[in-house]
Amino acid sequence: MAELKLNHIYKVYDNGHKAVNDFCIDIKDKEFIVFVGPSGCGKSTTLRMIAGLEKITAGDLFIGDTLVNDMEPKDRDIAMVFQNYALYPHMTVYDNMAFGLRNRRIPEDVIKEKVLKAANTLDITDYLSKKPKEMSGGQRQRVALGRAIVREPKVFLLDEPLSNLDAKLRAQMRTEITKLHKELQTTFIYVTHDQVEAMTMGTRIVVMKAGYVQQIDTPMNLYDKPYNQFVAGFIGTPQMNFFDVKLQRKGDKVNMLMPDESTVVLNYDSFAKVHGSYLDGEKDVIFGIRPDHIILSEKDTGLKVRVTAVEHLGNESIIYGNLGEEKKDFTMKDEGKSIIIKDTNNTKVEVDDVVFIGFKEDKIHLFDKSTQVTLILDVPASNYVKAELDGDTLSVLNGKVKLPAAVLAKLEGHKDLALEIAPSAIVKGNSLKLKVKRVEQVDDKYLAHLVYEDHYVFALVDEKVKEGDTYAFDVEFDKVKAFDGEEELLAPIGENEHLDGKFVKKDINRKEVEFYYVIGGTQISDTLGNGFKINSVDGNECYSKTYKYVFNRDKVVVGQGEIKATALELLDYGHVKYVKAKVGEEELLLVVPEGLELSNGQEFSFDVKGKDVEVWDKKNDFRIC
Ligand code: ADP
Repeated sequence: MAELKLNHIYKVYDNGHKAVNDFCIDIKDKEFIVFVGPSGCGKSTTLRMIAGLEKITAGDLFIGDTLVNDMEPKDRDIAMVFQNYALYPHMTVYDNMAFGLRNRRIPEDVIKEKVLKAANTLDITDYLSKKPKEMSGGQRQRVALGRAIVREPKVFLLDEPLSNLDAKLRAQMRTEITKLHKELQTTFIYVTHDQVEAMTMGTRIVVMKAGYVQQIDTPMNLYDKPYNQFVAGFIGTPQMNFFDVKLQRKGDKVNMLMPDESTVVLNYDSFAKVHGSYLDGEKDVIFGIRPDHIILSEKDTGLKVRVTAVEHLGNESIIYGNLGEEKKDFTMKDEGKSIIIKDTNNTKVEVDDVVFIGFKEDKIHLFDKSTQVTLILDVPASNYVKAELDGDTLSVLNGKVKLPAAVLAKLEGHKDLALEIAPSAIVKGNSLKLKVKRVEQVDDKYLAHLVYEDHYVFALVDEKVKEGDTYAFDVEFDKVKAFDGEEELLAPIGENEHLDGKFVKKDINRKEVEFYYVIGGTQISDTLGNGFKINSVDGNECYSKTYKYVFNRDKVVVGQGEIKATALELLDYGHVKYVKAKVGEEELLLVVPEGLELSNGQEFSFDVKGKDVEVWDKKNDFRIC
């Protein structure tokens, strides 16, 4: 039984190479997690840090509830299986499997029982007296697995265990490892560069690129909802098709201008979550469509493909071609216009044919041309709406809202405004009303598509609202951005606050030390024992350096505690009141709890718990723990 928690893990090699950056994941007991990505992306480094074979530069690694950053590999209760098997050549299979147990002085009869059981599971009983060199690659890998199984570890780590095997054996071993995972009921972490291996084996997959996690998700979600173009292209064979397009909205349709100058007409509803600025016919957008989501059509769809090659695979055909009618040699791939189609209907298609194609509209992917991030998120980042201010009243979303004092103070004197409202800022209330067109469940919440002018406004709500109903709501202005032209007048208040501070060590006696964060002149006990970590990152310089202490505003208790502050200004956002406070020479925003009366200039105190504090390297903006 083991859960693992990787908390902001970094690896910087001695030569300065940042191999792993800010790796975070909570791995549940019995999960089969796969790290996948191209060679050099940091998969093995991460696995080796979990194993204890590589030192963690920054971040916390927990196995179960234990922080294991500095624990020896042998004490971590994990077993690792390598690509090259790492068997002892002069020992028999039996002895190879028994070796680790003998080292731990386990009685020979217990060892025998464990080895025979594992050999039986892996179907290598007949080979127990052979030496590794008398066995095939597949059999050797089974022995390596057997050697791991007999140790009954909490976690199995497997580093490209199948990459030395031929394709057929690899496919067979894949199924066997999946079966083994089910039988052993243990947490598996598996590294591979092969996306098929990842997709067929993982309960969740971590896709990595150049030291950064790109997406952590189930195989299905990676396939259907890739977060960026890299994940979209990496997962799935044949690869997703990408085209540079421009999109122009025309009423309830969207025209998509393809690279061959043809235009595909699609329904606006498929683009409802795409920000309007991408639908102006000017902006460059990357359109992605998987080969399986292209439909060969008998009718003229307006989009033609000249076929350059066909692979008939029996149950399906893979058709290669180029957009447009122009004849091209297959070897002369038409950059930006080449297309791969997967046809499962046995359509008769031959080289040089011109076919009409259409797209399954609910399977369309769109990416920003410069960031390559998807333009269709389950929950859009924000809603963009226009608003007009008159006195203290804002006309917005077909209604009028009396602005809370703190918001009015920022917007006063301006008239025409553009707002960015987070879907979570639209909450059940009574000042505004819009009709609900659709409701989608997103995790444990609901995303309501509210009809506003010619597009939708999205509200992320706790309660299930009904399609066709009118939804009455308020806007929480602490999650709103407001602009007058280019000028930003109002910014959302984030979740976190920070203060600078020092770090001190106190010797209790010869063996024991205690560490404290000094925040606002007050010593906050480092209850997580992070001191050793900070010391191992920065050496003794840590006692003279200034750190950035970051904490969640909700975790701060205002009105009690030891950190002294002065209230500079009270900010009334309607549903919540903030106080701009001065601590030493620094300023921060805190939530005023209900019932506490504060006035400008008043002194008050607050409390932050050591366990809620993150320690950041101030200069390099790098989280240490
Ligand atoms: P992967 O397993 O994804 O192929 P690795 O984790 O092995 O990638 O390596 C990640 C990056 O770190 C690569 O660029 C590699 O060259 C570099 N690297 C690996 N080991 C060391 C080392 N000991 N010193 C410096 N750089 C290293």
